[in-house]
Amino acid sequence: MEKIKMTTPLVEMDGDEMTRILWKYIKEDLIEPFVDLKTEYYDLGMKHRDETDDQVTIDSANATLKYGVAVKCATITPNQKRVEEYGLKKMYKSPNGTIRAILDGTVFRAPISVKGIEPNVRSWKKPITLARHAYGDVYKNTEIRIEEAGKAELVFTNKDGKEIRHEVFSFEGPGVLQAQYNLDASIESFAKTCFEYALSTRQDLWFASKDTISKKYDGQFRDVFQEMYDREYKSRFEEAGITYFYTLIDDAVARVMKSEGGFIWACKNYDGDVMSDMVSSACGSLALMTSVLVSPKGVYEYEAAHGTVQRHYYKHLKGEETSTNPVATIFAWSGALRKRGEFDKLPALEEFADKLEKATLSTIESGYMTKDLVNLTTMDDIHVCNTEEFIKKIRESLEKL
Ligand code: NAP
Ligand code: MG
Repeated sequence: MEKIKMTTPLVEMDGDEMTRILWKYIKEDLIEPFVDLKTEYYDLGMKHRDETDDQVTIDSANATLKYGVAVKCATITPNQKRVEEYGLKKMYKSPNGTIRAILDGTVFRAPISVKGIEPNVRSWKKPITLARHAYGDVYKNTEIRIEEAGKAELVFTNKDGKEIRHEVFSFEGPGVLQAQYNLDASIESFAKTCFEYALSTRQDLWFASKDTISKKYDGQFRDVFQEMYDREYKSRFEEAGITYFYTLIDDAVARVMKSEGGFIWACKNYDGDVMSDMVSSACGSLALMTSVLVSPKGVYEYEAAHGTVQRHYYKHLKGEETSTNPVATIFAWSGALRKRGEFDKLPALEEFADKLEKATLSTIESGYMTKDLVNLTTMDDIHVCNTEEFIKKIRESLEKL
């Protein structure tokens, strides 16, 4: 069989621990036998990040800007324990944070639907993709604990010294006080990536905030979305047969619970933090959550939503059997290969990505699965696989396709 050709390399960001082991299996057993794989390889494993003073992370993000599509393995975000474990020169920042700062994007997370593993919310038939604005608000707040009576004011001073001053509250006793901010530029780039991603995945887009209470702050978010939609996206959405709609966050939450799914839910920073945990736990397993960073510069970085599965890696190192679920990491590869195929007009590569996903799902649907899925499934006749067996089973299904 002739292998599928690629024209532009994928940016490949290798990572750590158990997911680094999965990475190798996925490439060797599920991709390289079928695709003449072209990647520009960056080793974001903890050891190599330390050797390069984290330059490799920056280089991999810049390569993503150059080529347009990256696939990333889960990586360790070091804490004090990791500094000791790996003898690190310093406590490096989260690679995802470094990459996001360079690509400036929005993370879209969606559960993978599998027959036999049903979400806890009965009405959800299709995945709900959650987009979280990852800048500002309560995450960049300034807080004061007030211990005594006094007056709180909100003051803005421009560069000529001119002030806008509002009284916030006149305290008669102890209490708490908080200020937060956001930027038009950040809200605009969030809105743009949401509209673009809705078009590229042909899904409706919902956005909600608390604009009835926060008339200026949340009202600004609502207006930025609406003005951009009317100006740049209305006709393109109509052509694609999808809709954009804005509502109050309370109403959105109520509607989401009664919906069938199959749309993108754009959330402000705090709402996204909270609601993504709700959506992912209602759908079962972290190992079935995909994640893609979409940049307003038009580039995409695909990964799994889970971490490096450290506990399984330590078992693996001791020679014990593991049953680690590779599905989200496989979908990171298929997502990246499909996007590469779309950019480079390589229908065979897009078709391969579809088949890789189909083979993965049909393997689970025929009862072969990793341990984490056993408690979630409604199937009766199931075979629990170890890490290697599960990949081999997917390989068999893929060969048939
Ligand atoms: P984790 O890797 O997400 O795993 C937490 C637990 O969830 C695992 O112990 C396992 O439960 C279960 N799990 C997650 N993925 C699984 C899979 N594919 N198959 C089966 N079970 C799975 O989180 P962590 O152990 O707290 O973090 C480990 C490292 O990952 C940390 O150093 C952290 O910095 C890093 N991390 C990286 C990213 C990223 O690169 N995007 C994201 C999050 C965390 P059981 O042990 O009960 O089987
Ligand atoms: Mg959270």
